[in-house]
Amino acid sequence: MSNIVTTSRDRWDIRASDIARRTHNPIRSIVENIVVEPNPNKELIALSIGDPTIFGNLKPAKEIIEAVQESVASQAYNGYAPSTGYMEAREAVATYSSNEFINVDPQDVILCSGCSCALDLCITVLAREGQNILIPRPGFSIYRTLAEGLGVSVRSYNLLPELAWEIDLDDMASQIDEKTAAIVINNPSNPCGSVFSRNHLLDILQVAARFHVPIIADEIYEHMVFPGRTYYSLASLSNEVPILSCSGLTKRFLVPGWRMGWIIIHDRQNILDKEIRQGLQRLSQRIIGSNTIVQGALPKILQNTPQRFYDDTITILQNHSKLIYDLIEKVPGLKPIMPDGAMYMMVCIDLESFPEFNSEVDFVRHLLMEESVFCLPGECFDYPSYMRLVITVPIDMLEEAGSRIYEFCLRHHAKNTEKLMKHSISDLLK
Ligand SMILES: *Cc1c(COP(=O)(O)O)cnc(C)c1O
Repeated sequence: MSNIVTTSRDRWDIRASDIARRTHNPIRSIVENIVVEPNPNKELIALSIGDPTIFGNLKPAKEIIEAVQESVASQAYNGYAPSTGYMEAREAVATYSSNEFINVDPQDVILCSGCSCALDLCITVLAREGQNILIPRPGFSIYRTLAEGLGVSVRSYNLLPELAWEIDLDDMASQIDEKTAAIVINNPSNPCGSVFSRNHLLDILQVAARFHVPIIADEIYEHMVFPGRTYYSLASLSNEVPILSCSGLTKRFLVPGWRMGWIIIHDRQNILDKEIRQGLQRLSQRIIGSNTIVQGALPKILQNTPQRFYDDTITILQNHSKLIYDLIEKVPGLKPIMPDGAMYMMVCIDLESFPEFNSEVDFVRHLLMEESVFCLPGECFDYPSYMRLVITVPIDMLEEAGSRIYEFCLRHHAKNTEKLMKHSISDLLK
């Protein structure tokens, strides 16, 4: 369907644009489908919401709050900023993102309204209508939402649960064709909580180099890895492949509502050159940049947030993952996969063990109805027969959720039903 005016202008006939009609967030419709009443006798525990602030147990450091208070009080940030951001704020991001392998130029930083907006700009600048981008499966749904809205199709490459969610590189390579505009790599991963090794990242870069495809690196969980694991940014490992890396304050600084994200253009061979740089600049003018109050605070946030704060958050996340992993591991019919970072854990549901449920969506719906525990079904991440747990909820709630999941699974496990069935068959034979 197109928007060509087919009627005369003698009456109201207003229709949504193609972009509006093509834009669709799969999580919304899947969750709407699940909506059932939780058990009124049990308090709801939502392990579904990827917002670490909602329970009040994880708060930003006081340095972060003070930086914003000062920014507001200064009255210096009430006006418009340049659409790519104030230079001091971009410089702060450049310093924060530079390391022994990589030196980021402030000119290569574009501030955006959250990481979602950064991803939107990257996909929009690289991919034309009719082209395709490669995205991970399981993966965060926003890539699909953004791309399909633009008329860009998505092709999913598989992550391998048995290899700690590494990318199936043959699968990825086999999906690249002349219309592939970019590969999206999300590391550490939502929903998997996986963290790629240096070697795996090098292998990914080799595929991108071999086929000359740029990478959009969603690194919103950068540095959020458990002790003993090391985080490498893709850009720190490549001299050749052009990479647009996207990050922001949202997850590591525990302020999703502040809407501060950024793009860093990594292009050591000048492959993206003026065209893409100018394109990003132009696109940033559509919404004239990110919130100026947070821009004013950004240098202090990035410089003054103490290491203690980051370490404390990671310790909590790791303790929570261990606790819920140990609980779920003992549940018949479920198999958790221990994360190495981020804020999530994927759990495999052996649906054959639960014959009453015909899908993981059904499983999750009954879990909500009977135990008032809500987890997102794998379908939300294009990955049926799994569910994703958010591990940022307070530890007592997590423990309670774990034991309710345990009870639920015991009650519905096939072995249990078999016993019941034998019972009724023997009743019939009497
Ligand atoms: C949360 C999240 C984002 C979005 O971050 P915002 O800054 O809130 O827009 C992007 N990518 C992944 C993988 C996320 O989990």
